[in-house]
Amino acid sequence: MRKAPEKFVELMVGTVLEPFARLPRAHKLALASTVLLMAAVIGVRNNGDQESLSLPSLNLDRTPVAIPEDAPAPVAEAPQAKALSLPNFEYQIHSGDTLSGIFDHLGVSQAAMYQVLDSDQEILALDTLKPGDTLRFWLGEDNELQKLELRFSLAHQVIFSRVDDSHFEFKKVDIPGTWQSDALGGEINGSFYLSAQKAGLSENDIARISSLFKDKLNFARDLRAGDSFQVVRRSQFVDGEATGDTELAAIRINNRGKELNAFLFSDGSYYDADGQSLARAFLRYPTARHYRVSSPFNPHRHHPVTGRYAPHNGTDFATPSGTPVLATADGVVTRVTNHPYAGKYIVIEHGGKYVSRYLHLSRALVHKGQLVSRGQKIALSGATGRVTGPHLHYELHIAGRPVNPMTAKIPMAASVERKDKPAFEAEVKQLSAQLDQAGQPAA
Ligand SMILES: [Zn+2]
Repeated sequence: MRKAPEKFVELMVGTVLEPFARLPRAHKLALASTVLLMAAVIGVRNNGDQESLSLPSLNLDRTPVAIPEDAPAPVAEAPQAKALSLPNFEYQIHSGDTLSGIFDHLGVSQAAMYQVLDSDQEILALDTLKPGDTLRFWLGEDNELQKLELRFSLAHQVIFSRVDDSHFEFKKVDIPGTWQSDALGGEINGSFYLSAQKAGLSENDIARISSLFKDKLNFARDLRAGDSFQVVRRSQFVDGEATGDTELAAIRINNRGKELNAFLFSDGSYYDADGQSLARAFLRYPTARHYRVSSPFNPHRHHPVTGRYAPHNGTDFATPSGTPVLATADGVVTRVTNHPYAGKYIVIEHGGKYVSRYLHLSRALVHKGQLVSRGQKIALSGATGRVTGPHLHYELHIAGRPVNPMTAKIPMAASVERKDKPAFEAEVKQLSAQLDQAGQPAA
């Protein structure tokens, strides 16, 4: 039996960096190089739950989502390219940190922080920082921020670079790494949640499984002692180290002699053994009525005056404040938070590789971790954050990239396409063999 996926947590940072935080600023700068060396110890890991990290200006999310988040286009960058110049500071986040507090400690202006947040509005990466993640600062004259790197894991970084006096642009770096699969399994003993946890599945994994089968199985009522489950989980590795990213390639639940299966196909959706989709079709619009598109999706948008890259990763609808906002597909709510520019927003992960986001809300009607159904009212639209007027900004991401929600080929599918059937059947055969191996967990 394998242990739960490892997550980065704060351990040593408190002892390494806290004394530093209490020093007067002049000493901080003198100490910077020493701290850089000490704080470079970032492989500290633990299997425990992550502590909450709350920022007054930002509500940092606690749980990493294994599905990669948004990106205009994931770019793999050669490690040498980033090593060209060393950062002036490297800071590992620990629980209780605030973004403005970190900037303050390092003597970096709050104005620069808001400029970074401005750029962050289209990627929403700062909200996903959690204890253990690392911030790297490159400073110019007068401690002016030139570059800020967010290191979420070995595989995922977001880099904000200064383009002029008042703007930053972002770049997302995703290293594909290698994926290794392992088979986990167990018998139902008590609740599915506890049994799955005991077998080594994470809270995210369990929520995904519950969401996938929610139309087919009532997890609270239908499962009996003696029922069992098997899962093939893929974990990402970079340079031999686990990044914490996982995906469930196959799931089987044996319920009173009946077998339920889910196989993740290369199109990013889950299907049963016969190739029938487990998810219902997505709704194209996140509202019951269709509102005028006030600003379309445009990943190549440049600011008309500065010429700087400023992608618009979603579709804006001219919704009056208070318009009911609907989940466009079944899924799990992974984030409900506030951003100074994106306003109140919700992120929903839909089985497989799909994520949707809803911004500038006046009110959220769901909470993090909640399972939602397609068409369910999840919020009321509004005008929170920085907006010129009330509207709903809606995003759809497939496998980590934002796509045009109005034109994307979204899962309308009821089954695997005929031309893909042979590839799907080969995949099912291989995954089924791995599920068979999962057997029973070690006692
Ligand atoms: Zn927008």
